[in-house]
Amino acid sequence: MLKVVQIPCLSDNYGFLVHDEASKQTISIDSPDAQAISMALEQRNWSLSAIWNTHHHFDHVGGNAALQTRWGCEIIAPKGDAAHIEHADHWVGDGDKLKIGNITADIIHTPGHTMGHVIYVFKDKKIAFVGDTLFALGCGRLFEGGPKDMWRSLQKLSALDPQTKIYCAHEYTEGNLRFAQTVDPQNAELKTRGGKITSLRAAGKWTIPFVLAEDIATNPFLRASDPKIREHLGLQEASNWEVFAEIRRRKDEF
Ligand SMILES: [Zn+2]
Repeated sequence: MLKVVQIPCLSDNYGFLVHDEASKQTISIDSPDAQAISMALEQRNWSLSAIWNTHHHFDHVGGNAALQTRWGCEIIAPKGDAAHIEHADHWVGDGDKLKIGNITADIIHTPGHTMGHVIYVFKDKKIAFVGDTLFALGCGRLFEGGPKDMWRSLQKLSALDPQTKIYCAHEYTEGNLRFAQTVDPQNAELKTRGGKITSLRAAGKWTIPFVLAEDIATNPFLRASDPKIREHLGLQEASNWEVFAEIRRRKDEF
């Protein structure tokens, strides 16, 4: 069995520990805050076997060196971001597999936010760690890739089992909700989900993880083919990635 521990880090990041009870191995998805991650390990009497990085941004790799010094763990990082990541022991890319104990994770390359970005998917467990590619009701900014890259990456994510639990790296959901309502105002499921998100946040609770199916029904960045969104944007004839590009452009200015 895999246990996931979610650790609030920095201002709005989440770190994640994934622990396999059978092998006693523990990995950290990214390293936003070495101190907070080490404390979470110590509290449980776990030791860190490896860090799996999703992409090269500082709030994802900033704790790599300190955690490696403290725990002697391996660092596994996306080869497409290799120019920007120090201290990695292994580089991974699309189609590679990693193991924690006997449990396999698939690596999927999702360029867009950075060109090397990867996500880690435990298909048998229906759990995915998606870094800054997909957020609840949002997606990562296009710092390096274009809208066509990101649209393709989001299509790969949408193709996962709809019951997959999505662990993204930021609590951006409330802001994303306000924007989503401007693009898809008629969506009844979005209204229902919006109500839940607002009450969770009002109670100081997390909105992460979420189930992929909820996002497929309500996240405008996954719904560029939806006739109502296209009509709302006046883009009935555009291709899906062009509709996605317009939604991303509007969000950047929101
Ligand atoms: Zn990032």
